[in-house]
Amino acid sequence: MTQDRPGLAFDTGKRYFAAIDHERKFPMNTRPLTVIGFDADDTLWQNEQFYRLTEEHFRGLLSDFAEGEHISQRLLEAEKRNLSHYGFGIKGFTLSMIETALEVTEGRVPTKTIGEILSIGRELLTHPVETMPKARETLEALAGHYYLVLITKGDLFDQERKLAQSGLGDYFDAVEIVSDKSATTYRRIFGRTADGPERAMMVGNSLKSDIVPAIAAGAWGVFVPHELTWILEHVDKPDEAPRFREIGHLGELLPLLDEIGR
Ligand SMILES: [Mg+2]
Repeated sequence: MTQDRPGLAFDTGKRYFAAIDHERKFPMNTRPLTVIGFDADDTLWQNEQFYRLTEEHFRGLLSDFAEGEHISQRLLEAEKRNLSHYGFGIKGFTLSMIETALEVTEGRVPTKTIGEILSIGRELLTHPVETMPKARETLEALAGHYYLVLITKGDLFDQERKLAQSGLGDYFDAVEIVSDKSATTYRRIFGRTADGPERAMMVGNSLKSDIVPAIAAGAWGVFVPHELTWILEHVDKPDEAPRFREIGHLGELLPLLDEIGR
């Protein structure tokens, strides 16, 4: 997926007024950094762990037909194939589980099992929202001092639900739910704010989606590793990039910002 779709504004009115407010707060300022983008899944709240549990359950449903490892491998292949059709998120994951079930059973999967797969996919859409350590405190400290943008991909409904349940929505000046995260995406989002990518920073747990493309767009990329990160989000660390940083958890972001310059 190289083509970006325009991001879906979560609350256009809020963003409009926030932009005006932003100019008032930071008039022609010379601060090196004014905009901070945050990834959501596994950066602000837990996500991948729920997918892993669902995958375990899925393997159990097909245990009469194939080994667990083999099922996982086929599922990953299906997800990879389907990304360009369905995009990221639970609905695409559910369809990939069904496709995998048909494959590994050579079409013999009982209809009851298909029903159960649909059901575990729906359950994934209702998992509890568990915020990451120091997420709230950090956003609270930054709100009002920086223009904060939540930038996430995935199913629109699911991300809106998680944002609402997390209670973190009010800290953000804007929310962008995008189909993919490329350098073009970051140029567009950061370029729309007054200061452009050079004065922007992206914070996230995925090197591939959050860090490498944000740095390519000219922004800072702050990597906050999560122990569970989807294998398709792995790429090499851009260690040579002067705007690459890594922190252990979100609580280390404020000291880093002091270093980079407020
Ligand atoms: Mg993430």
